[in-house]
Amino acid sequence: MRKSIVAGNWKMHKNAAQTEELLNELIAKIPAKTNAQVIVAPTFVNLQAAATKLKNTTIGVSAQNVHQAEGGAFTGEISADMLTSIGVNTVILGHSERRAIFHETDALIANKVDTALKHDMTVIFCFGEELKDRQSGNHFNIVENQLRDGVFHIAKESWSKIVLAYEPVWAIGTGETASPEQAQEMHEFIRETIRKAFGADIADEVSILYGGSVKPENAKEIFSKPDVDGGLIGGAALKADDFLAIVTAL
Ligand code: 13P
Repeated sequence: MRKSIVAGNWKMHKNAAQTEELLNELIAKIPAKTNAQVIVAPTFVNLQAAATKLKNTTIGVSAQNVHQAEGGAFTGEISADMLTSIGVNTVILGHSERRAIFHETDALIANKVDTALKHDMTVIFCFGEELKDRQSGNHFNIVENQLRDGVFHIAKESWSKIVLAYEPVWAIGTGETASPEQAQEMHEFIRETIRKAFGADIADEVSILYGGSVKPENAKEIFSKPDVDGGLIGGAALKADDFLAIVTAL
């Protein structure tokens, strides 16, 4: 059975005190048993404190990025070894903000995926089309290409470390969500694409999360779709009650 996951991508939000406050609230309010595996991704500067605080809880912790090199003269960057050394074994890669604002290419992201896998990290691999692609009917092609260029080179054995997160760019932070039918249609296509390339075992086991304006009000309907295995949550992950309402919608 594949894993259900709800992950909160905090992006560049929450200073140290606010991080502590949100984590305390999540720890206090999270139900003892949830259907979803719960993960939060605070900023780098608060990651060690978060990892320490979450150590004996059911909440996992993820980084929002990692550098592709093992180490060296890369001012301002963070290596996979640094992350795992503080107990952070998951990383979000390929996010549309990294692609669009920080010019990360498919090739660079593929490189980062390799580095993370080499360090036995779990990768939440994000991809998704822009509005113009959907309007021109090119969205399936774009998604297939992003998958092919980002993760199709990895070994079959590594797929247990990959979580896919379909995030249509037009739905991120816009309040506009893909309809549950649009999400299901694309998730089914993604699983089929993985099946063709890697076989049914891997396609049936890989978790595919939906991201883009998921809120307490729409989570249940999106999560009810058969190929949607959870969500990657931005804005609504910044309030404990909203995030936990999404977690319990699964
Ligand atoms: P929003 O939930 O704010 O639309 O962000 C989604 C996202 O980008 C998560 O990575």
